[in-house]
Amino acid sequence: MTTKASQKVLVLGGSRGIGAAIVRRFAADGAQVVFTYAGSADAAQALATETGSTATRIDSADIAALTKAVADQGPIDVLIVNAGKLALGDPLTLDPKAVDEMIDVNVKAPYFAAVEAARTMPDNGRILVIGSTNGDRIPFAGGAAYALTKSAMQGMVRGLARDFGARGITVNSIQPGPVDTDMNPADGPMSDYMHSFMAIPRHVHASEIADYAAFLASPSAAMITGSMQTIDGGFGA
Ligand code: NDP
Repeated sequence: MTTKASQKVLVLGGSRGIGAAIVRRFAADGAQVVFTYAGSADAAQALATETGSTATRIDSADIAALTKAVADQGPIDVLIVNAGKLALGDPLTLDPKAVDEMIDVNVKAPYFAAVEAARTMPDNGRILVIGSTNGDRIPFAGGAAYALTKSAMQGMVRGLARDFGARGITVNSIQPGPVDTDMNPADGPMSDYMHSFMAIPRHVHASEIADYAAFLASPSAAMITGSMQTIDGGFGA
């Protein structure tokens, strides 16, 4: 078991994909898991029933509601910010609203949720965000806005690690490459192209991200902070 049974874990964006795998992993380890969702109420309820976790509808784009929801949880041992948006396209025609939404959900929400959680987080707590290998490398056109959000996370992770380190709180990012989810299905039209960049040409399984999240939440990872942990099959190598 990687996590303590008494650990309280809040996963932002847990109803599907990587977030759902993280909910499953931490719940299986015995943690008390609360997760948020925005649109997938049926999936969220089914996952809550399956895992014994608690689902709550909070749109991460609503920063005031998100901040209140984090505060309402009381002290959280582990905060995992997984909720994210992806909008790709020619920047000359990409809908500015979609870019704004990405910045809200991928940048503002992680920052304000992390700061709010840190107010009451016990010593040696954990803050983990799900970034992207595209924070380091964007080897195709049309990804500038997405990449800027994931690069922004990197600065946040480094800075907050400094802010909270004296309390033993670690702040890290997991940076996946292509992961088989609704956002990026392994049988999608872009798969062969994406695999062509990879040393190991397959999508990452969501459970492989969740397993690493559990490690980062464990006492063994106490000295890993301010870091980007890339799990991308060599996409950025
Ligand atoms: P999915 O689109 O499959 O799932 C996204 C999850 O986030 C859902 O549970 C969704 O909930 C939740 N979510 C999205 N927007 C909001 C919001 N505004 N408020 C609350 N919850 C929200 O994505 P993935 O699982 O693939 O991606 C998860 C994270 O991993 C993202 O940050 C993404 O950028 C990152 N990532 C993914 C990669 C991939 O290849 N899949 C690669 C690199 C990084 P609901 O359905 O209820 O709205």
